[in-house]
Amino acid sequence: MTVPEPLRTPIPQLPGMTPLRAEQFRRLGLFRARDLLFYFPRDYEDLTDRRDLKDLEAGKLQSVQGTIDRWTSRTTRRGPLTTLFVHCGDGYVKAQWFNMPFVTKPFEVGRRVLVTGKPKDDPPYWIMNHPTVTYLADDEEIDTALEPFLPIYGLTEGLTQYHVRRTIKGLLPGHVPLLDEVFPRPFLEDHRLLTIHEAVPAIHFPPDRTVLEYARRRFVYQELFILQLALAMRRLQHRTHFRATPLKSTPAIDQRARRLFPFTLTAAQEKVIGEITADMERPIPMNRLLQGDVGSGKTVVALYAMLLAVANGCQAVLMAPTEVLARQHLRTLERMLEGSRVKIAPFFGGQRPAERSAVLQSIATGESQVIVGTQAIIAGEVAFHQLGLVVIDEQHKFGVRQRAALKTGGKFDPHYLVMTATPIPRSVTMTLFGDLDVSIMDAMPPGRQKVKTYIPRPDQRDDWWKFVRRKIEAGRQGYVVVPLVEESEHSLIAAEQWNRGSSRSLADPPLPADSPTPRPVAASSNLQRSAVDVRSLRDVFESLRDGPLRGLRLEMMHGRMSTEEKERIMLDFRSGEIQVLVATTVIEVGVDVPNAALLTVENGERFGLAQLHQLRGRIGRGKHPGFCAIFANPTTEEAAKRLRAFERLTDGFKLAEKDFELRGSGDLFGTAQHGMPPMRIADLIRDRDILVEARADATALVRDDPGLARPEHEKLRRQMLARYGGVLALGDVG
Ligand code: ADP
Ligand code: MG
Repeated sequence: MTVPEPLRTPIPQLPGMTPLRAEQFRRLGLFRARDLLFYFPRDYEDLTDRRDLKDLEAGKLQSVQGTIDRWTSRTTRRGPLTTLFVHCGDGYVKAQWFNMPFVTKPFEVGRRVLVTGKPKDDPPYWIMNHPTVTYLADDEEIDTALEPFLPIYGLTEGLTQYHVRRTIKGLLPGHVPLLDEVFPRPFLEDHRLLTIHEAVPAIHFPPDRTVLEYARRRFVYQELFILQLALAMRRLQHRTHFRATPLKSTPAIDQRARRLFPFTLTAAQEKVIGEITADMERPIPMNRLLQGDVGSGKTVVALYAMLLAVANGCQAVLMAPTEVLARQHLRTLERMLEGSRVKIAPFFGGQRPAERSAVLQSIATGESQVIVGTQAIIAGEVAFHQLGLVVIDEQHKFGVRQRAALKTGGKFDPHYLVMTATPIPRSVTMTLFGDLDVSIMDAMPPGRQKVKTYIPRPDQRDDWWKFVRRKIEAGRQGYVVVPLVEESEHSLIAAEQWNRGSSRSLADPPLPADSPTPRPVAASSNLQRSAVDVRSLRDVFESLRDGPLRGLRLEMMHGRMSTEEKERIMLDFRSGEIQVLVATTVIEVGVDVPNAALLTVENGERFGLAQLHQLRGRIGRGKHPGFCAIFANPTTEEAAKRLRAFERLTDGFKLAEKDFELRGSGDLFGTAQHGMPPMRIADLIRDRDILVEARADATALVRDDPGLARPEHEKLRRQMLARYGGVLALGDVG
């Protein structure tokens, strides 16, 4: 299947193309004729209701065509006002914009335009407030009957809608017939999909709304279907290429594990343990994502799985994204395993060489059965005796698909259990994590207390601190969280290293362990930033110590402190020695101190919803109700909405949906962070139903034709490999 020549014509060689324009297209990432055909509009100008001036009706969205007669821009008492007179046959439309100074780019008198808006009758004019003005080229005859929607494309400096429209329109007749259909015809019919030959022209110049919907549906479906094919292939490959040691459960093993737990498991924990046990008993490696809201009790589930591995003579690894959390796990496991013969090996960045080699030795000989630590474990240095299970806690902090090249000590692959407390909307789970099996833990252990959330006004600060003080004096403890100034950088780099399986040893993390949700930003000096972070943290700390919390036992903690220091502080906080911990987001994930009941967040507008939810999850974990105050100066509407949602919602899944909605699916929890190419047309919020359909269809197709070996699936297979073969490591399919 080679692409026919005309589709591959370089844009500069297209008829009528000037070098300047070709360069503009190049800046949009468009190089060949074919690229233009697939450069989809980002929106449409709805011109369905095109009228002559005399037929306008008040209050309905309509368009009239005319010529720009004159325009003015002046400042009134109510602010800037721009007025535009458009001559339409025997009268004028008076378009006006209040307080929209950006409209005031000069209008070109004499140009033909289409004005779209809701008119108001104000003789002798029709007035349109804030209408859309579309320039028409002198030779551009828009035929109302044929073109009720005008495409709106993403532009670049110097390029106009008209240029893009005209270029694409010119290509359609000659090039569309040359396009190759990837779907077999019966498939198109069964799934009510337009052919590529119908869909391409229709998505650019839809004749009506229904056809537009269908054209869009075709491409959304295709995009999601190809992704789901890739994920289904990966699942298949996983089943056929990997072998794991079956780890059998027996009543005796089960009882021995349960005896170690200081509480009865919740129904949700039981259900998930059932699913995990069933996976681990199979000779195929488990590949399971466990989603459980903060505080739902995931650690004990992990421990159960690890004990199952150990009982079968295998080793188990538990990894956490921060050292603070890893050390907490270490303590929890040490406590729970006290009465057992299981030996635990801690594996951390800062270990001294002698200590390190002793640990490595005990892992290699199999003397240690459970290994707990940070991602340093998978840096490649560790050779296992017989590795049976890898548990990764809070995996959403990392790239997802990293199945590390572990020296497992056997010819089998380990079972994988990935845990996350960031609830993920279902549609995201199905895409980013679509190759994993998913378990959901949707209930809390009994007796969990409510957390009350406040977004106080600045003038309520004193009251809040008085309240905090009273609670602390009554025996509670609290956190005060100060954001990192450039929070994203540290974690982005950390995430990147993880993704690349960096050759640089992760055993000595070069960056603070604070790892908030990564967002792509340009790199700059970390050292400098961190100095600023520490300073702002210190400021808050000192002003509390010398002010409203004077006399209480306060301590400060941040990611750049030494391991020993952080560990000492956490221990002192846990024992109650420290009453208030002023910290960066080092405490964000997983930290479990039941007596902590108060959380104060400074600069709350800097945190995402998922992060705030994680932070709030640090309190209300014991028998005391929690109180949380977020001080914030939201500067954007989005930040304000986020905070309001946070005040109102406590359910992690509802918050995740809301977050997703507010951020838009474009971000997709940071597609790049997960190493997946971004969606071109599908919108996981809007197109949820198509996603569900595409997933089911793709799964069925791969079941029906494993490896997509049949000739009629050849093109689908190629497209799937071209797009996802690399990221999903599907290179050797078929
Ligand atoms: P997370 O899911 O956030 O990792 P943890 O595993 O840290 O939650 O558990 C939160 C707290 O709940 C811990 O103090 C833990 O001991 C306690 N816990 C877990 N399971 C139960 C249970 N079945 N009954 C009572 N307490 C439990
Ligand atoms: Mg946890």
